[in-house]
Amino acid sequence: MAERALRGTRLGSTSYENDRNTDLAPRQEVAFDCPKGHHFTVPFAAEAELPPTWECRVCGAVAFAATGESPTPKKVKPPRSHWDMLLERRTVADLEAVLAERLEVIRGRRGAPAASDTGRRQRKSA
Ligand SMILES: [Zn+2]
Repeated sequence: MAERALRGTRLGSTSYENDRNTDLAPRQEVAFDCPKGHHFTVPFAAEAELPPTWECRVCGAVAFAATGESPTPKKVKPPRSHWDMLLERRTVADLEAVLAERLEVIRGRRGAPAASDTGRRQRKSA
């Protein structure tokens, strides 16, 4: 029965569902003000975390939510570098050991005919 109902329906064609007897998810309209004077609203789910900015629908500039409060900059953690993360896992002594190990491998490889198992292109040294 469902198949018969779908006959002749293309992908992307109009949905036959309607809003009748359907409870729409609770939503809220958030107004945004563009620095160039455009105003627009964007619907969000009621429980959505509201973004402080939105791309202006007219000109594409960064518009700010017209909540009356200026967007509070979130506490930004200083970005962790790879080095920081590495130090969380390994001590410098560990790293020295790993480095020494790798250097051994590399030195051993240099003596040997070009290793093809690394998949890396060898840098040409000047
Ligand atoms: Zn605008």
